Amino acid sequence: MTFEDFDLDGALLSAIEKQAYHKPTPIQAEAIPALLERQDVLAGAATGTGKTAAFVLPMLQYLLDEPKHPRHPRVMLLAPTRELAFQIHKVIKQLGSLCEFSSVIITGGFDQNKQIKNLKDPFDILVATPGRLTHLMAEGAVNLSEIEMVIIDEADRMLDMGQGKDVRALLDAIPGDFQAGLFSATLAGSGVRKFAEEILEDPVTIQIEAPNQKSEQIQQLVYLANDKAHKQALLENILNDASCNSAIVFCNKKERALEVADWLQSRNVSAQVLHGDFIQAVRLEKMQKFKSGKIKVLVATDVAARGLDLLNVTHVINYDMPFRGDIYIHRIGRTGRAQQVGLAINLVERHDIEHLQRIEYHLQQRLPVAKIKGLEARFTLKDVEKSKSKKKKKPGKKSAAKKKAKK
Ligand code: AMP
Repeated sequence: MTFEDFDLDGALLSAIEKQAYHKPTPIQAEAIPALLERQDVLAGAATGTGKTAAFVLPMLQYLLDEPKHPRHPRVMLLAPTRELAFQIHKVIKQLGSLCEFSSVIITGGFDQNKQIKNLKDPFDILVATPGRLTHLMAEGAVNLSEIEMVIIDEADRMLDMGQGKDVRALLDAIPGDFQAGLFSATLAGSGVRKFAEEILEDPVTIQIEAPNQKSEQIQQLVYLANDKAHKQALLENILNDASCNSAIVFCNKKERALEVADWLQSRNVSAQVLHGDFIQAVRLEKMQKFKSGKIKVLVATDVAARGLDLLNVTHVINYDMPFRGDIYIHRIGRTGRAQQVGLAINLVERHDIEHLQRIEYHLQQRLPVAKIKGLEARFTLKDVEKSKSKKKKKPGKKSAAKKKAKK
């Protein structure tokens, strides 16, 4: 299958060629025709699958097919974080470079008055995070009365971040019928299906990869660690390996990310921290330095790393294990992008094993445990399982009493 097989305008085909997309990715092959046929779409597609172009291309084609000169935006794309919103906006600019559509991006973290001013002139495409847009709508600064198409990206994450209410309020403000596409890393859990039922009408459902199939492009490993010092030694060893060109090290909290980045710097590893408290300009600058190879390691929190489009990330390292499977999938999706092979490494202390097991359950897959020579852990997963089952077997007072009664 090629992009020519879709009924896309020449302006879009030229832009696709410019991006050097040679053939549609699986999500594109399925979502583009369905959206072009004006059907609602519910798509489970992880980051790195090419999902952004899968909705941006049919959205642009829709505007080309139905030319109008509206006062207010005709399509709305919602994303959970500003980074993702900017990423989507970038793809719209790239793929729409030969079309004459105007777009406005509205997210938190930027001057609201400037945004209100930008919303005053007519434009076609609105890209936004739900919180700031709801706020501006309440101020009467944004008018959604002419919206004909809505795309909701990373809906699972949106729900996790408590943005469901804002999204509903925004959709309620659209008076007419609209076509909708809802994209989510996973369709399992997080209430995504229920949310989709509220929003979509008779959708075409597409599930691109079960999470465990992702591992074809991403090799996943576990290294067991005795304690913090051991974990640091493992991290340093992994980052100094010749195969590691660029890495994102994930921490669950800002404080931990700062601590890890400081420690890496003290060991002369080129590392910078990226957390959600940095203003947008600083985040963009750091990302740029990372992308250009000036920084080898980004130590990031989940909020800060959301929506980063970083090709060539060879390693994703979970210094802290995430508490949930969908967050794990989002994290490891930062590597192995666009047909490259990536390595996702989990540093697991004894007390993290519960989290590891929850993630393995989510993936429906056991992750292999590997060892680095000279840095082997003093325990194995079997030890932990054994000590757990011993604890379970020890009869408590109640069960001993039950046994007696049975006799
Ligand atoms: P996404 O899942 O939308 O974040 O896209 C992941 C990466 O894949 C981005 O860097 C895109 O530029 C790239 N990409 C998207 N579509 C294609 C394609 N058809 N062929 C090659 N790369 C692509």
